[in-house]
Amino acid sequence: MKTIEQAIEKLDYKGYLDVEIPQGIDLITEIKKLKEEKNAVILAHYYQSREIQDLADYLGDSLQLARAAAQTDADMIVFCGVHFMAEAAKILNPTKKVVLPDTKAGCSLADSCSAEGLRGLREQHPNAIVVSYINCDAGVKAESDIIVTSSNAEVIINSLPQEQEIIFAPDRNLGRYLNQVCNRNMILWDGACIVHEAFSLERIAQQMTENPKAKLIAHPEAQEDLLKFAHFIGSTSRLLDYVVEDEAEEFIVATEEGILHEMAKLAPNKKLIPALVQDESCNCSECFYMKLSTLEKLYLCMKYELPEITMDEELRVKALASINRMLELSEKIK
Ligand code: SF4
Repeated sequence: MKTIEQAIEKLDYKGYLDVEIPQGIDLITEIKKLKEEKNAVILAHYYQSREIQDLADYLGDSLQLARAAAQTDADMIVFCGVHFMAEAAKILNPTKKVVLPDTKAGCSLADSCSAEGLRGLREQHPNAIVVSYINCDAGVKAESDIIVTSSNAEVIINSLPQEQEIIFAPDRNLGRYLNQVCNRNMILWDGACIVHEAFSLERIAQQMTENPKAKLIAHPEAQEDLLKFAHFIGSTSRLLDYVVEDEAEEFIVATEEGILHEMAKLAPNKKLIPALVQDESCNCSECFYMKLSTLEKLYLCMKYELPEITMDEELRVKALASINRMLELSEKIK
C-alpha cells in the first residue's frame, strides 16, 4: 500500500494522489464533511460526471464558474473541471487555495495554442488585438487582450470597432462561426476540441430521420458542416436554457454529453438524444479530460488539499487583465 508521502512524491507524474481509500467509507458523506470542515466550495463544470455535478455548490459553464470563483469567500476552491479552468480560478482569486482532483485533466483546445506561438502570430499582425477563448492556458491569456467564453464572445466581438483587426485563438470552429454571425474576418488560430470535432454528420442525419420531431442543437465548437443543420447554436448554458424554454419536446444534443444530466433535471418531460460521433464502438461524446475527475480523487484532493494550483505572480497579473476585460464587458449580457 502506498503511503501519503510516497503518493506526494509521485504527484507531478501521476497528476493525482494515488492513495488507497479505506474500504466501506461513504465518499459522498465524507466529501460533504470535508467541505464543511475546510470551508471549501466545489465548482463543477456541466461536463463532469453526474455524481460530481450532484455534489457541486456551483454547477456551470466556464463563464458562470469564473464568476463564482471570483466571488467566493470560501477558504478553498475545489475545481472539478479541467486545468485551464482551475488556473482561471487562481488568477481571479489568488488568496484562495485552489485544488484540482487531477492535474492531467487538460484540454485538446488549450494544448493547441502556446504563448510563444500566439506572440509570433501577433508580431505578424502588429495592429491586431488578440481575443482568446477562455479554453487556453495562463500563458496564452497573458498574451491576449480580451478573453471570451462561448456565452459572451458574440457580444464582446460586436462591441469592438468594425475596422479593428482581430486575432482569435485558439478554436477555429468557434472563430469561423463568430466571423459569420459578427460579420468579421478575424485571423483564426488553428486549434480544435477533440470532442466537438468527433460528431458524425452522417449518423446525426440518420438520428434526425429516426426522430423527425427532434431539433438539433449544437455548441459552436462543432464543425461548420454540422452547424449548418442545427436548429439552434449556443454555449453550454444557452443550450440548457433553450431546451427548457423551447416548445419542442425532443432534442438531439451535439455537445459533451455531461450536460444531459442537468438538462434532464430542468426539463424532465423532454426527450434528449445525445448526438452520435464517428466512432461507432463508443457512441458517446464524452470529454476524456473532464471525466478524469472521480469521487475518489475528489475526496483525496479535499482531504490532503493537493494537487494545488500555483502560479507565478507576474504571469497571473498579466492573465488577469484579459479576464477582467471580459468580466467587465460581459456584465452587459448578464
Ligand atoms: S470538451 Fe473539448 S474544449 Fe472542453 S475541456 Fe474537453 S477537450 Fe477541452
